[in-house]
Amino acid sequence: MAGPSNKNDYVVGVDFGATKIYAGLFTSNLNLVGAAKMTTKPLRGATAVLDRIARCVKDVVDECDLTMDKVRAVGVGAPGALDPESGRLIVAPNLGWENVPLQKELEKRLDLPVAIENDANAALVGVYEEELEGKPRHVLGVFIGTGIGGALMVNGDLYSGYSHFAGEVGHMVIDIDGPKCGCGNVGCFEALASRTAIFREIKAALAQGQKTILTDMLGDKLEGLRSGDLRKAIQKDDKLAAKVVEDAADYTGIAVGSLINLLNPEVVVLGGGLIEALSDVMMPRITKSALSHALPGTTDSVQIKDSLLGDKAGIFGAAVLARRRTK
Ligand SMILES: [Zn+2]
Repeated sequence: MAGPSNKNDYVVGVDFGATKIYAGLFTSNLNLVGAAKMTTKPLRGATAVLDRIARCVKDVVDECDLTMDKVRAVGVGAPGALDPESGRLIVAPNLGWENVPLQKELEKRLDLPVAIENDANAALVGVYEEELEGKPRHVLGVFIGTGIGGALMVNGDLYSGYSHFAGEVGHMVIDIDGPKCGCGNVGCFEALASRTAIFREIKAALAQGQKTILTDMLGDKLEGLRSGDLRKAIQKDDKLAAKVVEDAADYTGIAVGSLINLLNPEVVVLGGGLIEALSDVMMPRITKSALSHALPGTTDSVQIKDSLLGDKAGIFGAAVLARRRTK
């Protein structure tokens, strides 16, 4: 008998990191209605960030001309190691957080059920629901942006490891003589193939006197350099931009090839902002390099694909988790 008009049928998916909080309002069929962004400001401390996340959720609901009583749950993807069962964030080095009762604190602020998950795991759930046909059961997700995140699906379930740290593919060492990584190690995949690594390599080449049209586009300091600028430069046949992006793709292929040997996945999906902007340049190289580094028996059936969701994968996945939380 109940009509659809009063049903609290919306969910909100949130993805946050050290820089940004991103919230999307979705219908129960996972159509994105609207999104809102806010800076995280982690230096203000966990309480202030939790307040900001709650505010970002309320903002997106208000921007879509709805009220909070129309929302039935909120899902949150957060950086670091999380225990979705207990609702606690165990550790998030780039936020400086340890042992934060993330779920409980957000439920208190929003007066709604909240589901939490590691951000890369949430992104893989988003890609899985939105983009992967045939619902494969063994999937590897690699998400390349400022950093590199990874997520594993084994036998149809997210795999988090013994203490919720699994999937940190960005810190696999690819080159023992490589550049220093934010984690303190050297030669990590993230230090070689993330957007941060690409920008560092371009700046180093400029310091050595190499030329790029990126300086014509953005000035000598390359202020505000974004993945889309690399794309434009490569389309204009810029040798330096092409070389640095191709190197990143080759390193990504080495990492993916090793991961295929470890996991024997059905599908490897590459996502994140860098892949979204540079898919056509990077994917053929990543695939070729990955297949050449993987053992023959593992390469027959594996599909290596790009995700077109880009930075939106996290909010989609968080929305799926919110929906599951109230089923
Ligand atoms: Zn590292």
